[in-house]
Amino acid sequence: MLTIKNLVKRFGDNEVLKDITMDVGQGEVIAIIGPSGSGKSTLLRCINYLEEPDSGYINLEELSIDTTRANKKDIDRLTRKSSMVFQHYNLFKNKTVLENVTEGLIVTRKMKKKEAVEKARGILEKVGLLAQLKQYPATLSGGQQQRVGIARALAMDTPLLLFDEPTSALDPELVKGVLDIIKSITELNQTMIIVTHEMNFAKEVSDKVIFMEDGYIVEEGPPKEVFDHPKHRRTAQFIHQFD
Ligand code: ATP
Ligand code: MG
Repeated sequence: MLTIKNLVKRFGDNEVLKDITMDVGQGEVIAIIGPSGSGKSTLLRCINYLEEPDSGYINLEELSIDTTRANKKDIDRLTRKSSMVFQHYNLFKNKTVLENVTEGLIVTRKMKKKEAVEKARGILEKVGLLAQLKQYPATLSGGQQQRVGIARALAMDTPLLLFDEPTSALDPELVKGVLDIIKSITELNQTMIIVTHEMNFAKEVSDKVIFMEDGYIVEEGPPKEVFDHPKHRRTAQFIHQFD
């Protein structure tokens, strides 16, 4: 459902994504691992055009984009096909939990407020936040804030969900609750790309693991192969840090 070909992204002289080619099937869960600065976040951000790639192709469902000549209409259509869960939640601080989830439905999806509220409540119930609907993000724990982030992404019903280190800003005791929610989403035939440093989680939930380093995909394969029998020395070195 997603194919990326020869994607390149530079920040000034710094070529951060060098030649990314990858393929994601409908319903697949992809875990992206790799050292800091390897380009993991930039790759996710290019997929929904929070960053504009310099060149390469992105095909998402029936939409095909040549990033060197993409027009605004194509980019709009592309960005509507994925939603992102951020490391630092990126919630609207001056909006309540409920409003954080309804905002995109009302503004982007042009849903009626009543309908948006009904939908948001249903999703917030699933992530265990019904009691916090009227609270502001600052009054919530990190784990609760990230649940709002997940609810907001889920509400958009996009074919693709992107998670950028969704638990790495959390206190250790809050990580499991959030991972459990993400895990429950993986069981819904939802296509997901998850950047994570949680190796056990990646191993458990993903269909495919991608190891990135220095702007390249160094290795990819089923989690059992990549974790237990890495083909590249760099993959092995990276994984062994977490032993
Ligand atoms: P981490 O594990 O620390 O989150 P990452 O793999 O997500 O790392 P990226 O954030 O994609 O790495 O960054 C890749 C490279 O691009 C880094 O060298 C970073 O400094 C650079 N970079 C990222 N965003 C920008 C930006 N907006 N402007 C300039 N350079 C950037
Ligand atoms: Mg990152």
